[in-house]
Amino acid sequence: MRTGLGFDSHRLVEGRKLILGGTEIPFEKGLLGHSDADVLAHAVTDALLGACALGDIGSHFPDSDPAYKDADSMVLLKKTGDTVKENGFTVGNIDATIIIERPKLSPYIRKMRENIANALGIDADHVSVKAKTNEGMGDIGAGNAAAAICSVLVLKDGK
Ligand code: MG
Repeated sequence: MRTGLGFDSHRLVEGRKLILGGTEIPFEKGLLGHSDADVLAHAVTDALLGACALGDIGSHFPDSDPAYKDADSMVLLKKTGDTVKENGFTVGNIDATIIIERPKLSPYIRKMRENIANALGIDADHVSVKAKTNEGMGDIGAGNAAAAICSVLVLKDGK
């Protein structure tokens, strides 16, 4: 039994789609990045890689590689899930928190959980996604950025 921790943050800017956990959310801003900048998917990906001591998202999917320009981060998450399995691990559970001032994410949480579960071939009951504001503090509080943190548990040979 091993745990992993992932963190990510991106700027929120006009003229970009807001995609969290593979779910497009109607909003006047979106996350800026080389890929689709899905901050939740990136935190989950890093947590999985960390639990298995397999490096980090940047080493597997470098943002200097044109192949990952505007990449669908859920595809990258699925590839990471395959890598996790190839190394003999299975995913126990995932618990993630998104920190964003607006919009309210509660209508989209179920879909995010299902998307992550589907990408990894696990049950949505083993995936938790929570959302909170930053209470008006800093760049996140000003609506200019968002972050996500994720904890995962993986098992090797069922233990
Ligand atoms: Mg990122």
